[in-house]
Amino acid sequence: MTESEMLALARREGFEAGIVETGEIEFDPRFRTFCAENLCGKYGANYSCPPDCGTPEEMRARIVRYPRALVFRSEWPIADYQDQEAIRLAKREHNGGMLRAIDQMRAAGIEGTMAGASNCTLCARCKILDNAPCPFPERRFSCLSAYCVFVRKLAERCGMAYAADGGIAFFGLFAFAPSADSERA
Ligand code: SF4
Repeated sequence: MTESEMLALARREGFEAGIVETGEIEFDPRFRTFCAENLCGKYGANYSCPPDCGTPEEMRARIVRYPRALVFRSEWPIADYQDQEAIRLAKREHNGGMLRAIDQMRAAGIEGTMAGASNCTLCARCKILDNAPCPFPERRFSCLSAYCVFVRKLAERCGMAYAADGGIAFFGLFAFAPSADSERA
């Protein structure tokens, strides 16, 4: 699968999409303090979230081990930033669209790791809460915040608007190793 085909796949799922070198992505470990404040209630309650997902350095290493990253952006007409239910549902849709596209890329032989717009929601109840192992360690995803990605700068790097006009924008990425036959987009 070529990078042009990967971009087309993301766009077919409704995303604005771009590709960056992972070496161009800015990380800031200080973002980890926001996770520790646990406003989302997932700190220590999901394998994909801190502290269980790994240190900021370990998370960064998981992305930069791949040379390229496909960046996803979606926009949602949510006027009220306090509408947590609308935001939760929109993030679920965003992550679902990413997973559909990435599953097809993986099926075509593209290896990589996904960072979404929220914690992993592959299971209705994360197995960490029952002291059971994660059944999908290869497919689970953490959010960009857990990776300490500086999302505003990532958007700028891709020529994407960070904010949405009259709504909310969500981001995600798929760090990947291009296949041998892939040309760069
Ligand atoms: S796949 Fe299930 S158990 Fe694993 S991190 Fe995601 S929600 Fe938790």
